[in-house]
Amino acid sequence: MVTPFDPARLFFNDVSFAFLSEVALRTAFAYIAVFLFLKFSGRRGVRQLSLFELVVILTLGSAAGDVSFYEDVPVVPVAMVFTTLLILYRLTTFVIARSKRIEAWMDGKPVTVIEDGLYKLDSLEGLNMSSSELFMELRQKGVEHLGQVRLAILETDGDVSLYFFEPEDVRPGLSVLPPAHRKVVEEAPSNGLYCCIRCGLPTQLQAGQRGTCSRCKKSDRWTEALSRQRVQ
Ligand SMILES: [Zn+2]
Repeated sequence: MVTPFDPARLFFNDVSFAFLSEVALRTAFAYIAVFLFLKFSGRRGVRQLSLFELVVILTLGSAAGDVSFYEDVPVVPVAMVFTTLLILYRLTTFVIARSKRIEAWMDGKPVTVIEDGLYKLDSLEGLNMSSSELFMELRQKGVEHLGQVRLAILETDGDVSLYFFEPEDVRPGLSVLPPAHRKVVEEAPSNGLYCCIRCGLPTQLQAGQRGTCSRCKKSDRWTEALSRQRVQ
């Protein structure tokens, strides 16, 4: 039977003080191994890790953690894990650098998500990204509505690249503000321009009018179009 919250087991569990100095030595080994891996991997930074690199880093972290404090994990096999990972990593980056097709297969391709102030639905539907995630990205880059955006491209590292309309070309567009600042209706409360919340198409609606979007044909929910220019 395990006694929950038993301090002796919780903090030491039969580990001697002498073993703690071995833990220090093991940690130093793990530290040096990680250092050497990063040094010889050829990477410059971690700001834009691809999915594949993230998996390598996670495997590395797990091996480094295990060898640091498990008394039954010997050092040499972990050194082998690091060496093998390093060789595989260098090999993969070598192949990716030489083949556009393999690169696209490994890392994916940049995807156009907004064009001329409207969502590109066919590309959005294939993405594993919710519209609230995309809205957050857009807001963080100073976008208030889609009519300000000429082109938005979702990069392979998950970042969104934006190209804006000139101020005089900004058109009415779908608000990307959170629900507290964006009222969604099925029936227009007054005459005005409303945007389909699914694809962004602006449509003139009369007070009390309902309607299905003529572009995506799948939504009958609207929100008032915004037309503010971006403040530079
Ligand atoms: Zn629509």
